[in-house]
Amino acid sequence: MYPERVVSGMRPTGAMHLGHYHGALKNWIRMQSEHPCLFFVADWHALTTHYDDPSIIETSTWDMVIDWLAAGVDPSKATIFIQSRVPEHAELHLLLSMATPLGWLERVPTYKDQQEKLADRDLATYGFLGYPLLQAADVLIYRASMVPVGEDQIPHIEMMRELARRFNHLYGKEKGFEEKIQEALKKLGGKAAKSYNQLRAEYQEQGKHEAVAHAKTLLDQAQSLSLNDRERLLGHLEGTGRVILVEPQAKLTEASRLPGLDGQKMSKSYGNAIALREDRESVVKKIRTMPTDPARVRRTDPGEPEKCPVWQLHKVYSDEPTKEWVLKGCRSAGIGCIECKQPVVDGVLREQEPMRERAQQYLDNPALVRDIVADGCDKARKLAQETMVDVRSAMGLHYR
Ligand code: SF4
Repeated sequence: MYPERVVSGMRPTGAMHLGHYHGALKNWIRMQSEHPCLFFVADWHALTTHYDDPSIIETSTWDMVIDWLAAGVDPSKATIFIQSRVPEHAELHLLLSMATPLGWLERVPTYKDQQEKLADRDLATYGFLGYPLLQAADVLIYRASMVPVGEDQIPHIEMMRELARRFNHLYGKEKGFEEKIQEALKKLGGKAAKSYNQLRAEYQEQGKHEAVAHAKTLLDQAQSLSLNDRERLLGHLEGTGRVILVEPQAKLTEASRLPGLDGQKMSKSYGNAIALREDRESVVKKIRTMPTDPARVRRTDPGEPEKCPVWQLHKVYSDEPTKEWVLKGCRSAGIGCIECKQPVVDGVLREQEPMRERAQQYLDNPALVRDIVADGCDKARKLAQETMVDVRSAMGLHYR
């Protein structure tokens, strides 16, 4: 039906670290070659928790976009843009809010969770309660088919799906819907229309979900139908009216986690992070001074890699023979910790080298980054405006 599209955003948190790279960016880079992708800087989301300190948003945004480009996000494959430069996100957020039951927002698990975690901030704000709705607008406005998420974000996607369903149910039954369905069926042609009616009956009377998939294929292949006709017929089949907003699927991202230098979650605020473009000397120093298994007080004491944060990094950066060498050498005190850390140092530097090179051209010429983002904002805005034409019209806001 609507074209396949992936949407994903990140809050501007400033320079990114290798934990972000392994946890999210690598996944984006893989996805940009497989699907049409839109990646955005969620600057409004940064304000939901840090509304009292907006001073860092702009610098953080540019630093983060340079990191994306340095890591390999390719503007010729993916659309890169800034949320607030596409104001239609805010309009859809507002319109969705009219029909969103308050309870849907209050029950989002991360709402209470975050309020407890960020207890030092006053988060009893409308903006914070509404941030999953803004997230929904970010995705629904592009009629995205897929959103890459971690396990903890699945309830947000569920809510987006409910919102799209509710919206289509409330507003998808446009004036003259039945007549338009009959016209679309005529365009579909006798034989295909008969198959469509059969599939509709199978779904609505017998609950056969595969009938929806078959109908989608049938409609996709019908050259005589416009996109709107296809969406109407699909909505008619599912009993929702015309599909104006698409229910996105959650695409679970592979859990690839790079722990910090102390073995905890990598985070700038914990002081255990290596920045994506950190300079070589600093990387070498940080890894060389990393804590190890506390049982290895002397070089001659055997250790246990499972109790050592360096081993966690070997799991990401080292090949099988090196890992074997570490396991054996550590447990028999055959190798020293400095020796053991060297392949990790080499692995991290090897990974960062092309990133540093790519970043340099953007640091030397910031206008390049501005142009990429301006171009991305234009592209995103066109898509967002297409959706908003339908949304406004469905909600009675299409003034002539
Ligand atoms: S030898 Fe390696 S794995 Fe063992 S304690 Fe030292 S740094 Fe950790």
